[in-house]
Amino acid sequence: MKFSSRALGGALIGAVLLLASACAPAGTAAEERQPGQLSIVAAFYPFQFVAERVAGDHAVVTSLTAPGAEPHDLELTPKQVASISSADLVIYEKSFQAAVDEAVAQSGNPNVLDTATVVPLSPLSEADEHDHEQAAEGEEHEHSGLDPHVWLDPNNMVTITNAVRDRLIQIDRAHASDYSGNARELDGQLLSLDKQYRTTLQTCRLREFITTHAAFGYLARRYGLEQVGINGLSPDSEPSPARIAEVQQIAREHHVTTIFYETLVSPAVAQSIAGDLGLKTDVLDPIEGITDSSRGDDYLSVMASNLTALTTANGCG
Ligand SMILES: [Zn+2]
Repeated sequence: MKFSSRALGGALIGAVLLLASACAPAGTAAEERQPGQLSIVAAFYPFQFVAERVAGDHAVVTSLTAPGAEPHDLELTPKQVASISSADLVIYEKSFQAAVDEAVAQSGNPNVLDTATVVPLSPLSEADEHDHEQAAEGEEHEHSGLDPHVWLDPNNMVTITNAVRDRLIQIDRAHASDYSGNARELDGQLLSLDKQYRTTLQTCRLREFITTHAAFGYLARRYGLEQVGINGLSPDSEPSPARIAEVQQIAREHHVTTIFYETLVSPAVAQSIAGDLGLKTDVLDPIEGITDSSRGDDYLSVMASNLTALTTANGCG
């Protein structure tokens, strides 16, 4: 059977149109969205949390990082790339997820909030950077030398909340008072979390805490603790034997009681270090995603669980 090129072209166009219409409600957001609701795309969980709280019913928020997925090495589907182009607002942190940086740049979407413009990223601490370089030798890993984990300091979340509020008011002035009210309520909860952290952690017997994934630099600096990262910034790299020995030496020196690990990554490294020294292991959650195994169902409750874990391990309160 032979097609004229014209007929073939028509058939192809037809197929493409069919495909396009089948994909039209692309992304869960578009399917669920009611008339008048905004679409917000958040790069990963903490920004999704802020967007949902500030926007309330006025937007449908989707996260590019699936719950339980590791945000550090995120890759995007074509559908997600398209959602970045069409979103009313994209919230991301430049230089954390390369795939998102690239998709945002290529989208030309002017409605983007790069949170690093309101909460500047700090360089890795010297110890973590050293460790990170070691870890990076064996594997391909792009990193800017900046620590992305700003959301683990509640004060930074206040700044991000207010920036999201301001952008939503620009985009949708009709609901300005709702956005202001929602942001005020969330700010209040974040500041009371900050107060709990401040009052509890200033009483600790021990300042050092040891964690597999060095995600808690901002938190440690804010509350006067000292983070010892086993793996540095990359959550699933294997520490060198030299690094393990170094960490064990620190643990002995400071009478550390607990080796922390995170829910999204195997606890094997933490357990083997702890096992050698007869220490406990516990979860300190970098809140890069919420799953059934999270100790809490949102940012605020998991942060409260983290405080409880630190309090127990470091003899505070
Ligand atoms: Zn991380």
